[in-house]
Amino acid sequence: MEATELDPPDDEHDPEGSTIAYERAQVSALVDQAKEDLKALDVAAQRVADGTATTCDRCRGTIAVERLIALPTTVVCVSCADSV
Ligand SMILES: [Zn+2]
Repeated sequence: MEATELDPPDDEHDPEGSTIAYERAQVSALVDQAKEDLKALDVAAQRVADGTATTCDRCRGTIAVERLIALPTTVVCVSCADSV
């Protein structure tokens, strides 16, 4: 980042590759996604702490352990997920 600020490449006239702005937007999107993932994992950890990790948020039924292993951040059972 420092180097790019001191010596910005001429991205407007570089026929190769994408622009710096485009790459920054991509990185920014990845960071946003990582933040969302972290939030979902926090929720999942809290559900485990509360003992509600296997309780469906929608129907209050049981979320199969196999589903939680495959999708640790899910909060609904497979039936509710299918009916969305
Ligand atoms: Zn459900």
